[in-house]
Amino acid sequence: MSNLEKDPAEVLLAEPGRSSFEILEPRDVPLGGPRALPVRRTLPQRGRSLIGAWCFVDHYGPVATNSMTVPPHPHTGLQTVSWLFSGEIEHRDSVGSHAIIRPGELNLMTAGSGIQHSEVSLPIASSLHGAQLWIALPDGSRNHAPFFESFVPEPFDHGDATLRVFLGSLLGHESTARTFTRVVGAQLDLPAGASIELPVDAAFEHGILIDAGAPTVDGHLVARNEIAFFCTGRDTIAISSGTEPLRALLIGGEPLGEQIVMWWNFIGRTHDEIVEFRRLWESEVIADANEDGRFGRVRGYAGGALPAPELPNVRLKPRR
Ligand code: MN
Repeated sequence: MSNLEKDPAEVLLAEPGRSSFEILEPRDVPLGGPRALPVRRTLPQRGRSLIGAWCFVDHYGPVATNSMTVPPHPHTGLQTVSWLFSGEIEHRDSVGSHAIIRPGELNLMTAGSGIQHSEVSLPIASSLHGAQLWIALPDGSRNHAPFFESFVPEPFDHGDATLRVFLGSLLGHESTARTFTRVVGAQLDLPAGASIELPVDAAFEHGILIDAGAPTVDGHLVARNEIAFFCTGRDTIAISSGTEPLRALLIGGEPLGEQIVMWWNFIGRTHDEIVEFRRLWESEVIADANEDGRFGRVRGYAGGALPAPELPNVRLKPRR
């Protein structure tokens, strides 16, 4: 997905805060385009920019199946994780991938030095419902050549829970999808009235995004669409579903330990680098000057690419 905000705020991501537990509340963001898809954004936000290297969480639906039409747009310095609960999305990118994203199937796009992609939901199933998440690439890997991969995790039981590990490893189940820092990503389903102790990596920060239900997580009531955040140092997390079935996404990872500049769909390290990414996108793609440049071309999408918004009038710089 693209950050389609008309005037995206600069986000320079600094060291995480020190609280051991936080509730991250979503803010509603209407993504632009022909049909504005409303998303619930829980990362980044004031006071919390990263969970491990995870730097962006957009959660959407259930909405009408034709709600997502995102024209070709660029990314740099990150991986996009697409995960659906229902519906289907047609993905095309500039490394030649053409994939249908389906529920329970990871689609992972590593932008590295630069890629562009389009995403269009298909009129299949009763609704479109899912999440798009981004993982920041560490400095040593962020200029990697772009690539796209899929992985279908085998569901397994842990007590009363059913888990699908789509990135990293958990409880002996491992994803084959490539990551550049140690991270985990999994779907967790728990029927009503059930409890589990989930063993987690104590070197990781963790977030549990509640898609359905109203669970108690480590003694805290967490509402639908919120993220329960845990800092490093935890080796188990206790989860009780309560009166409703729970469906959640677990994300986690080692603290990135780097400061990154995030603006629109780009992640870089400096203001000037972001300015250059934007300039190349506008000249090579929007002005159609170079098919073989940093962002290549998306084939088969009926329509033009998405122009970048204007940069703010101030230099992108660290927040206090
Ligand atoms: Mn995107």
